Amino acid sequence: MANKPNSLYIHIPFCEHVCSYCDFTKLFYNQKYEKPYLDSLENEIKSKVSNKVSTLYFGGGTPTALSDKGFERILTFAEQYLSSSYEFTVEANVENLTESKLDIMKKCGVNRLSIGVQSTCNTLLKEIGRHHTFEEAQKIVFLAKSKGFSNINIDLIYGFKNEALNDLKKDLEEFIKLDIDHISIYSLIVEKGSILYNQKYKEQEESESRKFYEFIVSFLREHGYERYEISNFARNHKYSRHNLTYWHNEEYYGCGLGASGYVSGVRYENTKSLPEYLKGNYISSKEIVGEKELEEYFLLTNLRLENGFLKADYKAQFGIDFEEKYNLKIYNFSLSKYFDFSNNRVRLTDEGLILMDFILLKLLWLALYECKCLTLSLSLFIIN
Ligand code: SF4
Repeated sequence: MANKPNSLYIHIPFCEHVCSYCDFTKLFYNQKYEKPYLDSLENEIKSKVSNKVSTLYFGGGTPTALSDKGFERILTFAEQYLSSSYEFTVEANVENLTESKLDIMKKCGVNRLSIGVQSTCNTLLKEIGRHHTFEEAQKIVFLAKSKGFSNINIDLIYGFKNEALNDLKKDLEEFIKLDIDHISIYSLIVEKGSILYNQKYKEQEESESRKFYEFIVSFLREHGYERYEISNFARNHKYSRHNLTYWHNEEYYGCGLGASGYVSGVRYENTKSLPEYLKGNYISSKEIVGEKELEEYFLLTNLRLENGFLKADYKAQFGIDFEEKYNLKIYNFSLSKYFDFSNNRVRLTDEGLILMDFILLKLLWLALYECKCLTLSLSLFIIN
């Protein structure tokens, strides 16, 4: 029998406000939908998940936008799915990460927090629709630590209009003063459907964005943070075990409005319609992952990691040596300098990671299709 997924993602779609860059599945919080949503969510989890998992992740939306009662109810319900050695993460926004929410999380076994801080500049935070100041974020991180949360991630976004390298430097300096073990950093992407997209907001020029990214990597390395994934930095080996499930292309359960999952060789997406979800019509689309897609996903995920993947793992999954299959192609298309094959691994070099989208696109094209008979659809392979 196939192994069951070892990870569970639970989506809480409610938000108290809308951030201008956001294109996630979300709804304005409305008390009257909380109970029906949690009823349906629990039913979905019961119907899909039949085993204990070692990583559990509440994302959103904003899980902490729930009332204390709803929050405690769903955390208590989910806790029963945890195996003995686990990572239990909850995403939180500063403005609703209250002391009572922290106490509920402690009681329910949450051992990792991921807090959306985004910037140290209060004017910018206001402009992008965040409802907190950096000083409030500092206070909440200290409060969380005083309650015994030692595994904390904070998010940072860079690449806003008129942002200078010095602004980024200040963000990083202040972030590391918080003395937390994990930082996730994303460049601003103006996604279709976001407020910024409708405002025709311009993304940072590529050369500028690259300069910022290089600065981030070198600054954080200097301060003891290891880049283990293209956008994720950790100290003391506090990697996100849950997210590593995705980056290792392993299967996981996904429950909640708009969530996606990967179970028994099938990737599925849940409906984004609340009325449908409340009726129990959870899944809106499915994709059976064939061998070609499996390799595509394997490369798209594993090569995001600083350490890439083991050659032996690739061979075990696909029955051929990676280098045997790709070396000539990589050489012919001048991609050699972006790859490192040492230590029995395949990984992208620093420069390769910066150009990751381009390289993966090219690699997949070379690997999976016959060039002569295929019109390439670029958009298929672009990943964030
Ligand atoms: S970024 Fe997070 S808090 Fe802001 S609207 Fe999107 S889901 Fe809600």
